[in-house]
Amino acid sequence: MKCPYCQKEMTAGFIKSSHHMAWDQKRESGFFLEGIRLTKNSIENVFKGNAVSSHYCSNCRKIIVSLEENGI
Ligand SMILES: [Zn+2]
Repeated sequence: MKCPYCQKEMTAGFIKSSHHMAWDQKRESGFFLEGIRLTKNSIENVFKGNAVSSHYCSNCRKIIVSLEENGI
């Protein structure tokens, strides 16, 4: 994937977390995640952790997540 900012080739990888991840307009979150979930609730993720495939540009230091690629 080419970076939309500088047109250089991006590196494929994962954003990882031991917790579920979501995108929202506001920073605060309660017990339940609001907004767009980036990871699925599954027993497998409890043991393996959560990961969202993405592309990273080291030149611009930006990360792009495609929800379609992640089945979200
Ligand atoms: Zn770039």
